[in-house]
Amino acid sequence: MCLYHHRSGPFYDKWEALGEEKRKKIISGNLDEYVRFAARSAPFYKKRLADYDRNSRFPLAGVPVLAPARFRALLPPLSRALVTGGETAYNVFQSGGTTGSPKTTLFSNAELEQLTLPNARGFYACGLDPSDRVADLFAVGGLYMTFLHVNRMLQQYGCMNFPFSNHTPSDFVGAVAKLFKINCVAGISSVVLSALRNIDAARPGALKLKKIYYGGEHLYESDKDELRGKFGAGIILAPGYGTVDTWYIGYQCLQCPTGIFHAHDDQCYIEIMDKETGKHCASGETGMLYATPFLRRLTPIVRYGVGDRARWLKDKCACGRTTPLFELQGRGDDILRIGFDSVDYGCVQAAVARAKGPTGAVQMEKKREKGKDRLVVRVEADGAVSRRGELRAAIEREIVRDRPTLSKSIAEHTVLPLRLELLGRGEIPRNPRTGKLSRVIQQVGEGNR
Ligand SMILES: [Zn+2]
Repeated sequence: MCLYHHRSGPFYDKWEALGEEKRKKIISGNLDEYVRFAARSAPFYKKRLADYDRNSRFPLAGVPVLAPARFRALLPPLSRALVTGGETAYNVFQSGGTTGSPKTTLFSNAELEQLTLPNARGFYACGLDPSDRVADLFAVGGLYMTFLHVNRMLQQYGCMNFPFSNHTPSDFVGAVAKLFKINCVAGISSVVLSALRNIDAARPGALKLKKIYYGGEHLYESDKDELRGKFGAGIILAPGYGTVDTWYIGYQCLQCPTGIFHAHDDQCYIEIMDKETGKHCASGETGMLYATPFLRRLTPIVRYGVGDRARWLKDKCACGRTTPLFELQGRGDDILRIGFDSVDYGCVQAAVARAKGPTGAVQMEKKREKGKDRLVVRVEADGAVSRRGELRAAIEREIVRDRPTLSKSIAEHTVLPLRLELLGRGEIPRNPRTGKLSRVIQQVGEGNR
């Protein structure tokens, strides 16, 4: 069995070429079946889905959205309210939560297998070919999920597979790459960047790559330029965008610029809504992304708040696929993706409070320096300037203590050290129009995945 040769239609599978009418009909059928399934199998949804309206343009508009914290409270170990059918044969994975207590999500074995389709669809659209020799650097261990299903798909795709994971020292990856003429690397952006930079530093110009596939966060244009220059890579794309709490949501093709994805809309019902009004966004308008993943059966998930900002694009893709395009625009207002870690504002604010200084307003910003991320935290404080060194150290300690993933990345030099700036009261610039403090700053147009 070889996935590459079993593809059907002009693209990977027929879904990608279906006409508008057929697509609409199938999506609405999928949603209808999933909503019925959820209401039937998880008591939590019974009332919640009462206002589902299959005939509406937005059938889920009357259904409350599902916030991550609420979702988590309905899952083991806290509860079994969302687990269907008394199942206990499942896999427990870490889900993005990198603060203190682990956050987990559950996948049945069948669900893991079903990730093969969106994986293969995405890698095919990004130009993976049976003649490729692929170094897989995706994350494994520590309950990480991606490596497991990407490896499973690569084994079946028809290409040569090197399951290094994120744990293999770069010099070993480099040595094997040379022996086997590896021409393709896949992995989490920051891991891929750091491994390739190490390999090139040891033997500049020795490794040439045709294709680099990344996930988990955007690769900046400057990083892509660096990779093109150092390795000659002609294809640098993200074959899959998704979250462990939901499913694969989008994939790139050879025509997709950074941050733009085709929707896996047969896998997932995707909504983009204005957070304040709850209204669905028209094409071009930015809102928050919500996902209802049709394949999640062990724990049905309806209208999950993914936490990313996105907008639908009106134009069709030049590749000819009929799956619609959306653009990811980074995390929601209160979260910054720093290397591997998703740092939320509430957590930084709580760390500042724990340092017990005479502090006030807090702001955090993501900076990009020398091709690496840096978290900058600004804190307003009263008191003598002479005591500021002490306070600064205490706050830094509290922030880092709370974020094992961030401190590990800093120790491994894949992320630059935290920079804490102490300012006087009122010295963090406010919005001149509203007088409001911008709590979280990231450059406009800079996404995170
Ligand atoms: Zn396309």
